[in-house]
Amino acid sequence: MITSTNPYTGEEFASVKEYSPAQIDKALETAHLGFESWKQIGIKERGQLLKNAARELKNNKKQYAETITREMGKPLSQSIAEIEKCAWVCEYYAENGEQHLENEVIETDAYKSYVSFEPLGIILAVMPWNYPFWQVFRFAAPALMAGNMAVLKHASNVMQSANNIQKVFENAGFPKGCFQNIPVSSDKVEDIIKDKRIKAVTLTGSTPAGRAIASVAGEHIKKSVLELGGSNALVIFEDANLEEAAKTCVQARYQNTGQSCIAGKRLLLQENIADKFLKIFTEKVKELKSGDPMDEETFVGVMAREDLAKDLEDQVNTSVAEGATIHLGGKRKGTWFEPTILTKVTPKMPVFAEETFGPVIGVTTFNSKRDAIDLVNSSQFGLGVSLFTEDLKSVEELIPKFEDGAVFINELVKSDPRLPFGGTKISGYGRELSVHGIREFVNKKTVFIK
Ligand code: NDP
Repeated sequence: MITSTNPYTGEEFASVKEYSPAQIDKALETAHLGFESWKQIGIKERGQLLKNAARELKNNKKQYAETITREMGKPLSQSIAEIEKCAWVCEYYAENGEQHLENEVIETDAYKSYVSFEPLGIILAVMPWNYPFWQVFRFAAPALMAGNMAVLKHASNVMQSANNIQKVFENAGFPKGCFQNIPVSSDKVEDIIKDKRIKAVTLTGSTPAGRAIASVAGEHIKKSVLELGGSNALVIFEDANLEEAAKTCVQARYQNTGQSCIAGKRLLLQENIADKFLKIFTEKVKELKSGDPMDEETFVGVMAREDLAKDLEDQVNTSVAEGATIHLGGKRKGTWFEPTILTKVTPKMPVFAEETFGPVIGVTTFNSKRDAIDLVNSSQFGLGVSLFTEDLKSVEELIPKFEDGAVFINELVKSDPRLPFGGTKISGYGRELSVHGIREFVNKKTVFIK
C-alpha cells in the first residue's frame, strides 16, 4: 500500500495498492494499443479535449486543490492557483499546439523539403510532490497535444492527486489509455523505462533521481528530459527599487513554503544597500501568515514530509556552525519550519552550495557587478537568476554572462506556458512549455521530395 499522510495533522487518510507487474503490463498494453488511433485523431480534436480538461479543472478547482493541500501541506489558496494554472496550460496548447507542430518548410534543391513533427508513442513521466498537478500538466498538455500517450509515476506522498489527474482526463473525454496513472514506488521505474513500449521519459525531481533515470534511459537509448533542483540567486543591485524588490523576493522564496525548484534561495545584496534592503525584507517576512494550510489566509504552510524538514534543519545548523548567523527564525517543529533568514553566508556553506527546499534564505553581500556574476555562476545549479535594478539598459549587457536557463529582471523566475522552462548544469536538460516543450517528444522527421 502507498499511503497519503496529511503533513499538518499527521493523519493517514488514504492508501492505494501498488500495481503488480501484471497491472503495469496491462496499462502499458492499453496505451500501446491506443496510440495508433490517438495519433490519427486530428489535432483540432485533441485541442478540443484539452479545452474540456481546462473546463473540468476550473469547475472543480476547490475539490482538486483540497486534496493537494491535504497530501502535501500547500496553503489552499496556492493549491487553487495551481489548478488554475493547469487550466491555462491546457488552453495554451489547445490554442497554439497546431501552429507549433505545423510542417517547417525548408528551401533546398528538392521539389519540396520540410520537417514534420510526429508523436513518439508512450512517454513516462516521473513527477514530484511539490506542485502535484502543475508539474504533471506542464508535461501532459503538450505531450498529448502532439499525439503521444502518457503514463505517470507520481511521488509516493501524492497518489490521491495522481488519481485525480487521471480523472480530469477521463472526465474531459480523452480516449481510454491516453493518460494513465500507474501507482508504483520508485524501484519499479527502471523496469518501466526498459519496456520497449516506452519511448521516452521525463523527470522533475532531485538530482540523484535524475542521475538514476537518465542512466537507465541512456543505456536503452531513450530520450530523457530532466527538470531537477535549483538554487536561484536573487541579486539586488544598489540602484534597485528596494521596496518592490523586497516584495518580489518574499514571494520568490516563501511561496509554496519554499518548496520550489525555481525559488530564490540565495539573496545577494550589493554591500552599500545591504542593511537597508535586509531591514525592509525582514519586516515583510515577519508579516507572512503561517498556520493551517486549509485556511485560505495562510501563506506559509508546513513542509510536505518531516524528513525533508529535518534535512533543511541540518543544512541550517551546519551553515551556522560554519559561521552563518540566524537573522530571523531558524526553528522547526515536526513538519513546520519557521520562515528563516541567515546572514553572513559564504559559498561553501550548505545553504549556498546545496539546494534548500523550504522557507530558508541565505544572504551574501557583494561589491561589484563582476562579484555578483561570479557568485551567481559559482553554483552547481543553473535553473535561473533574478536581477533587480532600475538600469534596464546596462543590465541587458550582463545577461549573456549568466550560465542559467533563465534570467528575469525585476521579477521572480516563474514558469509561463508561453516561455520555455528548463536548466543548465546539474539542474538538468531539455525544455518544457512553449513551442520548445511540445517539440521535445516528437520525431522531427526530415522529408525530401525530389
Ligand atoms: P525525488 O527526486 O526523490 O522524487 C521525485 C520523483 O522521483 C518521485 O516520483 C520519486 O518517487 C521518484 N524517484 C526518486 N528516486 C528515484 C529513482 N532512483 N528512480 C526512479 N524514480 C525515482 O524527491 P524527494 O521527494 O525525495 O525530495 C528530495 C529533494 O529533491 C528535495 O528536497 C528537493 O531538493 C528536490 N526536489 C526537487 C524538485 C523540483 O521541482 N526540481 C521537486 C521535488 C524534490 P518516490 O516518491 O516514490 O520516491
